[in-house]
Amino acid sequence: MSTFVAPVPELERQAIIDLSAIANNIRRLRSIAAPAQLMAVVKADAYGHGMIQVAQTAVAAGADWLGTAHVSEALGLRAAGLQTPVLAWLHTPATDFASAVAADIDLGCSGWELESIVEAARSLEHPARVHLKVDTGLGRNGCSLADWPALVEAAASYQRQGVLRVVGVFSHLAVADETDRPETDLQLARFREAVAVAENAGLDLDVRHLANTPATLSRPDTHFDMVRVGLGLYGLSPFADTTSAELGLVPAMTLRTHIALCKDVLAGQGVSYGLNYATAEPSTLGLVPLGYADGIPRVATGGPVRVGGITYPVVGRIAMDQMVIDLGPAGRSHFADTAGTALGATAEIFGNGLDGGPLVERWAEAAGTVNYEIVTRISQRVPRTYVGQADCGSAAAADSDGAH
Ligand SMILES: *Cc1c(COP(=O)(O)O)cnc(C)c1O
Repeated sequence: MSTFVAPVPELERQAIIDLSAIANNIRRLRSIAAPAQLMAVVKADAYGHGMIQVAQTAVAAGADWLGTAHVSEALGLRAAGLQTPVLAWLHTPATDFASAVAADIDLGCSGWELESIVEAARSLEHPARVHLKVDTGLGRNGCSLADWPALVEAAASYQRQGVLRVVGVFSHLAVADETDRPETDLQLARFREAVAVAENAGLDLDVRHLANTPATLSRPDTHFDMVRVGLGLYGLSPFADTTSAELGLVPAMTLRTHIALCKDVLAGQGVSYGLNYATAEPSTLGLVPLGYADGIPRVATGGPVRVGGITYPVVGRIAMDQMVIDLGPAGRSHFADTAGTALGATAEIFGNGLDGGPLVERWAEAAGTVNYEIVTRISQRVPRTYVGQADCGSAAAADSDGAH
């Protein structure tokens, strides 16, 4: 007796996440960072790729640690059964430190958190695991250099009381993506001094960590015991003048939909709110059913959409649900010549670029932002689908290895 399997309808729009690409990128970054350990940074739903799937893949591919900004994100990893060491570093007085300590989540500490962490550890009678964070120049989170010796002393004293263990010291770089800037050297020197202060106070640190993706790729002298990689794990390049392919990385997210309407219009037809674009001659317009509610930046007019092997710029204003491409002169578009209509054709917004398709970076340029933001802001209205797996090299990964 055969079982009837209903055909799975193709999704109207989807962000396809290639887990083989993630695994490839982890292995590549690990080999660059070795002997340092690798923390896979999966904050912000893994930069939009899906935190749990990415974390599981990263760990299976050799990530030693996981990193999140929020304790709530780290608790989500534990709830999914991940037992890998996890560090969370951005807290407020409303943070649930007790749940974090109970779940053996390592906590970044820039100063004020120390007392809250100690209170949680005491009430649970369970020592907290702490990474002291020093501000070596970013001017954001982290303890100022002036306050550092006092924070180190306080933490060392709590460690002697057995209420916590200082597992690490870390800092974050400000300009590592711009390899010719001198500030990274300054941050590195300050980091070394801060580590020395901690070690002289009797702390024996498991992990000293400073490098993000750009520093992992360009500054081996910043690797210390561990690197914290986010962007590179998703296959994107942090450098303006270097592509992911040149770095041996494979972009993991492909954003796709189908052309929702294809119609011929007269010359002078205005397109979308504001009528900022008008057709120069009788033209065929294609409607792409993705907009700013899906995370396409509203300002990104001109961003590329590939349909039928050709890449077209978005014309007119991007709306909440939709945007428009001009497929060319009416009756003479690529589709008039071939299929007759582009209705229903696959529209690729961005992907891994290995087949010449549009890249996240072109959207970042169109929006005046960075590739980080383009993938991270793809909203939950766009379903994620997962292909590939951790232990299986994809065609994409094989291509990339060949290219490198
Ligand atoms: C987000 C973040 C990272 C990862 O940065 P990438 O440039 O994406 O590699 C590393 N460390 C800290 C503290 C972060 O906030």
